[in-house]
Amino acid sequence: AIVLYQDQFIDRDQAKVDIEDRGYQFGDGIYEALMVYSGRIFLLEPHMKRLERSARELDLALPYSTDHIIENIKKLIELNHLDDGVVYFQITRGAAARQHFFPENTPAVITGTVAGKIRDLSKRPQGIKAILADDIRWLRCDIKTLNLLGNVLAKQKAHASGAGEAILHREAIVTEGSSSNVFIVKDGTLVTHPADHYILNGITRLFVFDLAKKMNIPLAQREFTVDELLDADEVFITSTSNEVNPVLQIDDRLINGGEPGRIEKKLIDAYDAEVERIRAV
Ligand code: PMP
Repeated sequence: AIVLYQDQFIDRDQAKVDIEDRGYQFGDGIYEALMVYSGRIFLLEPHMKRLERSARELDLALPYSTDHIIENIKKLIELNHLDDGVVYFQITRGAAARQHFFPENTPAVITGTVAGKIRDLSKRPQGIKAILADDIRWLRCDIKTLNLLGNVLAKQKAHASGAGEAILHREAIVTEGSSSNVFIVKDGTLVTHPADHYILNGITRLFVFDLAKKMNIPLAQREFTVDELLDADEVFITSTSNEVNPVLQIDDRLINGGEPGRIEKKLIDAYDAEVERIRAV
């Protein structure tokens, strides 16, 4: 596979990063993941806007203009002949002798990879099992940083118990998943945590807002509790790579009898239609 390193396209096994890179030492960097369908990037603009915001919040100077980064990502997709799959790219504050405060005159380092992932319409909606886990993360979960240890520990706990996601909560309040946003459906209304510093404002979350609006499904951005989660008519998670995915069981509790719900199916169908639309562009 070909990977992106700064402005170069090189073989995966030729790519090397400095052992004093601040991404490696401090998790001092940001990232984005993009879905590609038929070689076309899905929801590119909001992802790049979020990248710019993450950079701003961390006072990290991007190594290239956003347009140039987009150009390079498109070239990476082409060079790898990627049809359906994911682009992952990250930007760190660069390599410098280790000290916590920011180095001067050190260029940020961008790297990117792609992975093929066939989108099989016949296999959805499958839904997943989830567990509940304490949200032990820091208070700037709105920034998409490389610091993911709290998320990693929660996901590992889910994985070890045969679940696909950990739904995080601070005391009684549900925040989000370890790598997704969480929605509940109650009496026909979608409810999800407001976009503040406790959650990442997911691009898929915002895309679901658009789909819901088009279908006249009411939506409330408000805090909801673990009890409301467990009592919900439907629960689903959203993320770039998992799109809209029903949660059919949380710990020992079945949601909607363990079946995808009516609103979930509508959203999944609408999502499919949008993906098919960009394939045809
Ligand atoms: N929250 C967290 C903590 C995540 O890691 C992700 C996926 N990157 C999301 C939410 C969903 O965001 P998006 O829809 O932009 O993939």
